[in-house]
Amino acid sequence: MIDKDQAPARPLMFFLFVGLPILAMIITPLWGWYYGFTASQWVIAVAFLYLNGLSITGGYHRLWAHNAYQAHPAVRLWFALWGAGALQNSVFVWASDHRRHHRHVDDNELDPYSAGRGLWFSHVGWMLREYRTNTEDFSNIKDLLNDPILQWQHRHYIAITIAMNVGVVALIGWALGDIWGTLILVGLLRLVVNHNVTFFINSLAHFWGRRPYTDANSARDNDLLAFLTYGEGYHNYHHLFQTDYRNGIRWWQWDPTKWMIFALSKVKLASQLKRVDEFKVQRAIMDTAFERARQQINPDDNCPLRQLLEREYQTFLDSITQWRDLQTKRYEKHRDALDGAWLEHRARLLKKWEDTHITDQLKALESSLQQQRRRLQLILEQSRALPVGAL
Ligand SMILES: [Zn+2]
Ligand SMILES: [Zn+2]
Repeated sequence: MIDKDQAPARPLMFFLFVGLPILAMIITPLWGWYYGFTASQWVIAVAFLYLNGLSITGGYHRLWAHNAYQAHPAVRLWFALWGAGALQNSVFVWASDHRRHHRHVDDNELDPYSAGRGLWFSHVGWMLREYRTNTEDFSNIKDLLNDPILQWQHRHYIAITIAMNVGVVALIGWALGDIWGTLILVGLLRLVVNHNVTFFINSLAHFWGRRPYTDANSARDNDLLAFLTYGEGYHNYHHLFQTDYRNGIRWWQWDPTKWMIFALSKVKLASQLKRVDEFKVQRAIMDTAFERARQQINPDDNCPLRQLLEREYQTFLDSITQWRDLQTKRYEKHRDALDGAWLEHRARLLKKWEDTHITDQLKALESSLQQQRRRLQLILEQSRALPVGAL
């Protein structure tokens, strides 16, 4: 371990991230056994879990760390309050650490929760000591530093987090007629569960799952983790396309954070949602698949399968060139359209026709890429079916 022996311990962090989970595991079943919890307490605990979780994923992560969309001040205040309630530090600290994580992913010297330092370190170990990688440096969040809501949250973080975790919870407990039971279930257990599912994104989502979009880093896509982490388990996609407001890009992929942001945009509380072009996504999948196929099929052998692979690769490169040309054409058309408000009706119609034509061609390219992907899959299957040495 890099500086484990020298790094001084952080007793408060040790209490919060190791002590509280142990306490929750002992005290919750005991209280449940002797006094029981009501259905309302369970419902409120799950509601709090989602309010905290979605404020971290939709607010701290996708809005502030990645600027994947813009949000109304009321939404930003909401995320700042419930995000502080998740007890994961202020937005400034969180977003700064997270941007460093993306920039230096897997670099043990610079990534604050580098997966290269092990599962425990990337899950929670990184917070328990004064590691060099935890040194605060806000130079990478200059775009956030002037936001008055975030300044206020950073300044009063401790007061806000105590108010959200103890004040609000005790008040609900008082209304329900069971302050201690509510503090244990909605306060303690919910906090510990939310901590650990969020931490899975830094730990398990860098160790367990598939890598369809890139092999360049340790991040993985994992459906089970996506379910537990409010949609953040499509981490391989996210590390390659970090500004996309979605992590699970298919409609059937579990990503409640994406649905929340989309719903907010429908009621005008969010805007400028960023999405990565489908062609770029397909291209990343193909690039990764070609790389794997090349490793699987012996490069020295000039076997038919190898030739087939190289031919497919050429087709793939041609598609990319065509796509680039079309994008340039489309860009020029849009620029002309902006300049040419004076255009005659007929000329404008012609331009519209050309625009639709380009869009159709782009769609055709997208589907041809999907067919290429299927053919590549077949080549890979055939290469696996052949006996060793036959390639
Ligand atoms: Zn990551
Ligand atoms: Zn991220």
